[in-house]
Formats: sequence, C-alpha cells, structure tokens
Amino acid sequence: MTEPTAPITQDVLTFPRKDAPEGTGKVNLVGLTRDGLREVLIAAGTPEKQAKMRVGQVWQWIYQKGVRDFAEMTNLAKDYRAKLDAAFEIRLPELVTKQVSDDGTRKYLVRIAGGHEVEIVYIPETDRGTLCVSSQVGCTLTCSFCHTGTQKLVRNLTAGEIVGQIMLARDDLGDWTRAGEGMGERPRLVSNIVLMGMGEPLYNFDAVRDAMKIAMDGEGISLSRRRITLSTSGVVPEIARAGEEIGCMLAISFHATTNETRDKLVPINKRWNIEDLLEALKAYPKLSNSERITFEYVMLDGVNDTDEDARRLVRLIAGIPAKINLIPFNEWPGAPYRRSSPERIKAFANIIYKAGYASPIRKPRGEDIMAACGQLKSATERARKSRAEIAAEAGLGEVRIGGYVTGAGGE
Ligand code: SAH
Ligand code: SF4
Repeated sequence: MTEPTAPITQDVLTFPRKDAPEGTGKVNLVGLTRDGLREVLIAAGTPEKQAKMRVGQVWQWIYQKGVRDFAEMTNLAKDYRAKLDAAFEIRLPELVTKQVSDDGTRKYLVRIAGGHEVEIVYIPETDRGTLCVSSQVGCTLTCSFCHTGTQKLVRNLTAGEIVGQIMLARDDLGDWTRAGEGMGERPRLVSNIVLMGMGEPLYNFDAVRDAMKIAMDGEGISLSRRRITLSTSGVVPEIARAGEEIGCMLAISFHATTNETRDKLVPINKRWNIEDLLEALKAYPKLSNSERITFEYVMLDGVNDTDEDARRLVRLIAGIPAKINLIPFNEWPGAPYRRSSPERIKAFANIIYKAGYASPIRKPRGEDIMAACGQLKSATERARKSRAEIAAEAGLGEVRIGGYVTGAGGE
C-alpha cells in the first residue's frame, strides 16, 4: 500500500500553469457563454461577420484542447492572436495544493480572487472518473452534520471559477484532446461531474447554469447532461428551473423522514418542508426510470437510521422514479454526530432493497485526506461559525451522540 502523498505544489503538475488569482486586469474568457464570448470578441474588434467562426475557433482551443496561450491558436492569423492577447486572458483558479489518497482520490485546494479557497475532489473508478466541484465559498445553510455548514458564506463562485475547476482537473490529469487526436478518441478521465462540493448550487443559480452549459457544449468539454448531477438541500422554487435551464440529473439531500428531524439536520426544511419538496420533485421534467432522482441519505447513529425510518422513506418517495444513496456519515473534528454501525446501515439498506430500490451504500473515498463528502471546508478559520451558532440556527437543542446526549451548544 502506498503512503498518502503529502501535499505537493503546482510545479509538479503535468501541465505547469501560472495563474494569478487576481488576474491581469484583462477580460477572462473562461466562463463566458457562447453569446458572452461573441460580445467581447466583437467589442475587441472582431468583425461581426466573422464572429460566429471566431467564437467556434477560440472555444475549441480553450475547452477542447485546454490551450491557455493565444499564441498557440494556430488557425488564427498572427495579428489577430496578438489582438486577443492584448485584450483577454484564459485564467483558471490558482492551484495551492494537491493531495493524493491511498485509494487514488485527489483533492485540490484552489485559490480564487479575494484570496478565498475552495476544494475540488476527483474520484477515479474503473469505468469512470467523477469530479466533485464546489459552487460557493462556504454555504449560507447550516446543515448540522456538514463541515461546510460550519463556514459562513464568503461568496458565490463565478461561472469561470466553476468551469475552471473542471479545467484544472483536466490539466492535472492530462485529460485534454491532444494535437492530432480526435475528440473522444481516448476515454475521458473526468467523465462525470457532481455538484457536491462546497456550497448550495441552487443559491448560485446563474453561475452554475452557465458553467454547466459550457461543460455540456459538444464542441468543448462535451459532457452529456446525464453525466452531470446537481445536489441540492431542497431549494424548492429553483428545482423546476434547474430542470428547464440546465437539464442535468438531480440529487436531493433528503436525510430524514419526518419534518421534525429534517428541520434539525437540513434547516432549509423549515422553509420548504418534506411535502413541498416531494411535490417539486414529482414535477421535475424528464423524470423517468432511466432518469431517476437520487435521494441522498446520510446515516447518523441514533438520529435517522431506524427500520421505521427506512419504511417511512420508501413510503414517502413512492411514485417518484428514484435511487437511494446511503452515505455513511463522514466524521470531521468536532462533529456532533457519529456514523451508524455497518450492521445498522445494512439493515436499513435491506428494507429499501426489498421495497424495490437499488440502495447502494456510498463507499467513503479519500478519507485519509479528508476528501469525503461533506468534509470540505476551507482553512479560513476566521470565517468559521461556532457550534453554538450552528445549533442555534438549526434549532438544535441537544444532539444524541452514540447513546449519550450532549448539548450542541458549547464550542
Ligand atoms: N449543498 C448541496 C451540495 C453539497 S453537499 C447539498 O446539500 O446537497 C453534498 C452531499 O454531501 C449532500 O448530500 C450533503 O448532505 C452530504 N454531506 C454533507 N456533510 C456530510 C458528512 N459529513 N458526511 C456525509 N455526507 C455529508
Ligand atoms: Fe450547505 Fe449542502 Fe453542507 Fe447543507 S449539506 S450546509 S446545503 S453544503
């Protein structure tokens, strides 16, 4: 077994890049939609008649080949390349550290404008590679089991910073289409995207939508909408919009089968409760047996993991084409919960299975580098909420920890 690799810095990347998080003052092309790109190219002197073609060419260089220097865009005239270089830049978030887990999971810490930091996780599997990207620095919500929830929202990420995370991983993995190679000739290393990193994607709707549209564009990163999963805690009014404007797969942080428990675990439930949420899900477009909604359910010892919970869960979601994803709780320092025992998780999974649902238990990945779901949190300690604040916001009087009761109040 290999030792987990210590954090290593940018200079050992496959493709060394020099990204200044604050940029150069030039307009960054990364994150512009096709229309946005067209506008800025015209503003920089591209004749309108040529604009469509130039957008296509620049787009392919950036999003298919991963080129970051206008000088390499060899199908453009030299003076036009110089013009682009004078007005624009192609800038990704700055890579601060990269950690590689025993199991091959990679965690990148990146810095964005303002000096803020977010994390990205790459999970390789035999037949695919999933990249877990962040949508916000911190989160406005305060789910009481989530490490990100202990960090106040610092800001929304821009579309460029979101799609930039995918590009950065492609850089590191050497996952771009190479010179002389046809698109899609080699299997993709980043074949799936999950919006399950830091933040609530539906509270940063426009940037998430634009970034995912760019990722889906067939002349660029070219990921099918069915390989992109957006996870939400349940921002009910934005769910239909996600279906219409992004069209990706949906995962719901369900986590409880009564409003009383869900209010404590996922406090947004106090605004839109289980009934409101289920109604919005039933109306999600394209819902079918081949495009099912994933119900994420974190297994917390003594909190939401009884046989009765399992039975209630299948009753609640009856009629919705669904997958249930059981997530053993990933502990973090100071977390007010414990993971349910493997026997409890199996018994819970069995009830769901007998009711006709596949109920995969998510295998925690990258635990040795704190890269597992819900463990992401920037090291910006000044932005940290105290447990008392979280407990107060969640209306959490006391929390049961594996058999004994503890006040959630003290830090
Ligand atoms: N804000 C979005 C997406 C990010 S969280 C959401 O809440 O859905 C991604 C998933 O990880 C969610 O299902 C979340 O509930 C879960 N999660 C958060 N903290 C966790 C932890 N400590 N252990 C296991 N899963 C966790
Ligand atoms: Fe935010 Fe999702 Fe964590 Fe809740 S689970 S605090 S919504 S990131």
